[in-house]
Amino acid sequence: MKGVGPQRADILAKELDIHTFGDLLVYFPFRMIDRTHSTTIANFNPEEPYPVFRGQISDLHTVTSGRSNRLQATFSDGTGNITLVWFQGLKWIRESLRSNTPYIVMGKPSQYGGNWQIAHPDIEPAIPGDNHPVHTLLPVYRTTEKAKAKGINSRVIARFTETLINQMPPSLPETLPPHIIAKYHLMDRTTALRNMHYPSTIQEWQQALFREKFEELFFHQLDYQYTRTSRRNHSVGRVFTVVGDHFNDFYNNNLPFSLTGAQKRVIKEIRADMRSGRQMNRLLQGDVGSGKTLVALLTILIALDNGCQACLMAPTEILATQHHASFLKMLNGLNIHVELLIGSLKSSQKKDIKRRLANGDIDILIGTHALIEDDVIFAQLGYVVIDEQHRFGVEQRAKLWRKSNIAPHVLVMTATPIPRTLAMTLYADLDCSVIDELPPGRHTVITTHGTDAKRALLFNFMRQQIALGRQVYVVYPLINESENLDLKDIMDGYESLSRSFPQPQYQLSIVHGQMPADAKAYEMDRFKRGETNIMVSTTVIEVGVDVPNATVMVIENAERFGLSQLHQLRGRVGRGASQSYCILMTKDDLSRNSQQRIQTMCSTTDGFAIAEADLRLRGPGDLQGLQQSGMLNLKVADIANDEPLVRATRDEIRDILLSDPDLLQPQNLTLKRHLSLSPLAEQWGKIS
Ligand code: ADP
Ligand code: MG
Repeated sequence: MKGVGPQRADILAKELDIHTFGDLLVYFPFRMIDRTHSTTIANFNPEEPYPVFRGQISDLHTVTSGRSNRLQATFSDGTGNITLVWFQGLKWIRESLRSNTPYIVMGKPSQYGGNWQIAHPDIEPAIPGDNHPVHTLLPVYRTTEKAKAKGINSRVIARFTETLINQMPPSLPETLPPHIIAKYHLMDRTTALRNMHYPSTIQEWQQALFREKFEELFFHQLDYQYTRTSRRNHSVGRVFTVVGDHFNDFYNNNLPFSLTGAQKRVIKEIRADMRSGRQMNRLLQGDVGSGKTLVALLTILIALDNGCQACLMAPTEILATQHHASFLKMLNGLNIHVELLIGSLKSSQKKDIKRRLANGDIDILIGTHALIEDDVIFAQLGYVVIDEQHRFGVEQRAKLWRKSNIAPHVLVMTATPIPRTLAMTLYADLDCSVIDELPPGRHTVITTHGTDAKRALLFNFMRQQIALGRQVYVVYPLINESENLDLKDIMDGYESLSRSFPQPQYQLSIVHGQMPADAKAYEMDRFKRGETNIMVSTTVIEVGVDVPNATVMVIENAERFGLSQLHQLRGRVGRGASQSYCILMTKDDLSRNSQQRIQTMCSTTDGFAIAEADLRLRGPGDLQGLQQSGMLNLKVADIANDEPLVRATRDEIRDILLSDPDLLQPQNLTLKRHLSLSPLAEQWGKIS
């Protein structure tokens, strides 16, 4: 492309992941600026994310402080002045800017030494140059600090996309089926791609955006649903016909309580899958404490009754260890061999377990990611249960599939209730079961909001509860930016608690991410046995940890947690017979959004309601675990706001696959072509 030499090509590739014309074409602007609407320096709204000013630049000069230079200019529009500052790319900027020329300046002003300034603003000549035709609407592209410093700002990207659009053939092949385009009045692909960058009106941009969102969700649904359908239609599943001694012995002799209606229903759904001759891929959603582990155990026993082995995979060693212990306890007296495989075992122990597993001497293997490794070989793996699924990606699930010549049945359990739209999107390849009922006799956890001013009250309350023989969690957030800072927070907190709860009257445990696994396990164990009164920890205790005697959950800096995460943490208490409490500690001056989130937590304990609120208040990117897992890789669609589109695309794909499951009809050819290029579908295809 004209204007892109090797150096710029390198920055585009490394910083913005743009390697080809195709990449650039779908590098969409995140907003459009209407150049005919600008604001004035005297009257702009500091809350507005991206104000637009028109004015002139004067007094462009370099300022040297210490060893570094910066470039500074005064920008005035007749109503006031703003300072423009550049710290990088000085030479390039100095050469490209002219005094006494009208410019449009965009960027977020911040207050600095009593003056408003914009660092690295986007600047655009207000009068078009010869090589720069006018567009009323100006696309604004995301870029990075590094790219900007090398001169690749939004404006430069706009020039590239403009060149590209001008060079583009008059029409590109359509990707969506004609009947879908007609039904939803979608803009055709070529027009939409042009209008995503250079629309003439905002309406045109919105129509283009609608088409792009539709297309993205449509193909996302196609990938997942096709996978699911073809797996259903073509994959052979083990047929578990009998419910035998293992199940019945446990059910009749070892089950400590009767199942809830929801547990029974879900077990029936799983049983039906296991008998069907098709491989089961089922998601089990159930709020914290709803008794998913028991469902896992009972259905595992069915697998054993049919001559198969089963495994249970958990996201942390603590959880795996805990599952192992509770399985051993519940299966006590039954002739079933359960083992735990985790990274911290001695290699001789691991070797021994692997050998016995391959021989078929182990019935149930419980573990962490270690289970996925290639040298873990089962004699006859028939059933896989994955606990707290949102931390496992699709590929990890797939790896387990391959451990058996006939794909094992898979149950994925999640305690993070997911909003319906998200579930439709994320788990479109799975069937879904929900436990919507808690075991009887649970008290609602009483949740309150506290600030530092009330800390003495909090400590008194903790002392009262401890005097009653109860235990307390105090949890600190993990903020990924700096592990050391996180550690400092929790250490400071631990010290101050140790002063207010002195030994020997009080015993404290501490668990955080930088401790070795065995030290963590030791501290968890002491707390579990009731030897310590207070567990100070980071979020490692978040999922699944079960200490029924703990009745108080104190969450420090609660405003920094997501709602779903707070809900998970709160689920650690209220597991026994006593009334439990959750205290959300925050700083005094909370933003409106944080206040709303804390209020939501105090007013409801319904995990699904909380998940919906979380999605609304924070957006899907912040939902726990999603970002890291890369599972929700949508570029234009927005799960929080595009629910109708998610539904529509889901239903359309479902109908298409119902009438033409293998996509052989001519009107579905484009879909078949899409699948042949889709890495996800290809991978699934190989597995099934
Ligand atoms: P989760 O769904 O969060 O994994 P668990 O499986 O850990 O929940 O169960 C929470 C607690 O409820 C456990 O102590 C478990 O023994 C208990 N429990 C499970 N099912 C029942 C039931 N039907 N009746 C009474 N208690 C139950
Ligand atoms: Mg659990």
